[in-house]
Amino acid sequence: MLKNEVKSTCSYCGVGCGIIIKKDTNDNVLVEGDKEHPVNKGMLCSKGMNLHYVVNDRSDRILYPEMRWSRSHPRERVSWNDALERAASVFKAIIKKHGPDSVGFYVSGQSLTEEYYIANKLTKGFLGTNNIDTNSRLCMSSAVVGYKKTFGEDSVPISYEDIELADCFLIAGANPAWCHPILFRRLEKHKEDNPEVKIIVVDPRKTDSANFADLHLQLIPGTDVVLYNAIGRRLFERGLIDDDFIKNHTEGFKDYKEQIFSTSVKQASKICGVPEKDIRKAADIIGLSKGFISMWAMGLNQSAVGTDKNFALLNLSLITGQVGKPGSGPFSLTGQPNAMGGREVGGMANLLAVHKDLFNPEHRREVAQFWGVDKISDKAGYTATEMFDALEKGKLKAVWIVCTNPLVSMPNTHQIERAMKNAKFIVVQDISHKSDTAAYADLLLPAAGWLEKEGTMTNSERRISYLPQEVRPPGEAKADVEIFCEFAKKMGFRGFNYNSSEEIYNEYCSMTKGTNIDVSYLNYDRLKNEGTFQWPVPDYRHSGTKRLFEDKKFYTPSQKAIFNIPKSIENTSPKTNDNYPLILTTGRVRDQWHTMTRTGKVSRLKTHYPTPVLEINPIDAHINKIKNGDITEIKSQNGVVRVRASITDNIKESVVFLPMHWGKKLQSDLNRANNLTNTIVDPQSKEPDFKYTAVSVKKYKKP
Ligand code: SF4
Repeated sequence: MLKNEVKSTCSYCGVGCGIIIKKDTNDNVLVEGDKEHPVNKGMLCSKGMNLHYVVNDRSDRILYPEMRWSRSHPRERVSWNDALERAASVFKAIIKKHGPDSVGFYVSGQSLTEEYYIANKLTKGFLGTNNIDTNSRLCMSSAVVGYKKTFGEDSVPISYEDIELADCFLIAGANPAWCHPILFRRLEKHKEDNPEVKIIVVDPRKTDSANFADLHLQLIPGTDVVLYNAIGRRLFERGLIDDDFIKNHTEGFKDYKEQIFSTSVKQASKICGVPEKDIRKAADIIGLSKGFISMWAMGLNQSAVGTDKNFALLNLSLITGQVGKPGSGPFSLTGQPNAMGGREVGGMANLLAVHKDLFNPEHRREVAQFWGVDKISDKAGYTATEMFDALEKGKLKAVWIVCTNPLVSMPNTHQIERAMKNAKFIVVQDISHKSDTAAYADLLLPAAGWLEKEGTMTNSERRISYLPQEVRPPGEAKADVEIFCEFAKKMGFRGFNYNSSEEIYNEYCSMTKGTNIDVSYLNYDRLKNEGTFQWPVPDYRHSGTKRLFEDKKFYTPSQKAIFNIPKSIENTSPKTNDNYPLILTTGRVRDQWHTMTRTGKVSRLKTHYPTPVLEINPIDAHINKIKNGDITEIKSQNGVVRVRASITDNIKESVVFLPMHWGKKLQSDLNRANNLTNTIVDPQSKEPDFKYTAVSVKKYKKP
């Protein structure tokens, strides 16, 4: 690294690629892949290699606090002092009149660990409510429940390094070729170098990942549990299970066996729409492999039965004993750069910091004592969809939205609009005027973005990295931790007198001492000088932990992994019917990120997918008299979308696909996929069901 170069981490996806930051003679930021970084070894995907445009182009940035006294008036520029005085006085008045559960925070998996930690300390410790949730609820909360109930804690057992040690991959409900490109590149290279490596992809769409696979199981959406149970049954019947591991290191196998034998492989084939021979082949590939890794993302998690899908998939790792050894294990792919860091500090309505349990009185007492407060409320806070539902119903009066754009990303966006209109007070803390949500703010606070503040993040493989501040924030924008701490002081709370993000990080690290995520020997100096670390890091000489559970001791009371039995083998989403005969599934395109507030600024990222289109199978297009390029009208019980049709046999018959990125500011609210989706959630994880909405599609005719 040259003298004028610094290291940072990409702020898009959970892969967590290392980036070298340079500046040109005009002080503009330049980026390139960090060749020494263990994750990406110099590679960057299209999003990462264009990050500098986002930093250098400040034309859309929120530059100073804006406030309005009533909804009939426009917002006006105010000082930071006036903005935070007003926020504190409104929060105090609402809490006094309606109690602490009448206010809440909705934060983001893009927030840094220090920001997540402070927002949670402020809300759970000092405001006295657990009403703090995150947009990570929308992408990986089903995986969190899966890990907790299987291994005893939310702990991803493996590393990217295990990819090069495995010979079998089951990629379920994920398209890493587009959404985790550098991770997928490692997988591609591994297969190119080792042709015996087998890849199985489970997806209703023939994605680029599926095209690269040896076997594509193009299942009917929502039938995943049946499919994985059928694979489990076949493994058992073929004797391809690890009896020793099951006997000595697991619990619940008897009930699991009973469930997998309740459906034959033939019946499963019919239910899933997958040929029987392919189910058998998948089981044989998995069962005969030396190292089996499952990878999954939204296709499993974003479902009314997302937790059950996770259980069914995790059980395949247990039945084959493929956990806690090199080149094997279940590996959930996090979508956001710091979804994992947020989980470490308890950044959800039902979690506490350092993997402590909100519903355990002893854990609440320990956290309260650490923060020097009387108690932590034992009442679960509102999760993401519950929060906006409570706003709509008037139970929640004020919400503070940080670094996320629910007007585009939440399901059933018309309900979100109603909720925002009904709220008494909305604070939006963000970087860009391009966010549709900013339009609803009574108080709009300018936040610093990537490279404009320092802090840490944790990627999908538990790897913590330090991100330096290299650029001054524009206008009066401030680091999020500074905004939270100043607000806390205006509220009259003690314990927020930090001089730096480093002090906040040190406080968090000291809280982890003796836990399974111990990073008490980590600090900014080590991260700056020694590079990234995978937690836990239990002493000063420790270089981080690549793999968990190598001793086969899990974090459950019995130290055994648990076979959790899916409660429902059937999908519970509202079914298709005569009025809405097709299944809509939503997702992401290669070059865009979330609601495009950043990637939407980069012209070259728009060429791959310039506008949203509806992917529809030729048979469904024929039935509905739709030609390629026609404007289609897609309807569900919640709303309407109009976009052009792209007829392709890459999508299964009776299923249609829409990308979720576009919102009102970037196109029109008729392009917004979430006009259609339901506010249905998985009962255990409370993650919304973005992958199954009953819709109708027809050619749009102007009235
Ligand atoms: Fe960034 Fe993810 Fe691309 Fe890596 S793969 S450069 S982390 S967006």
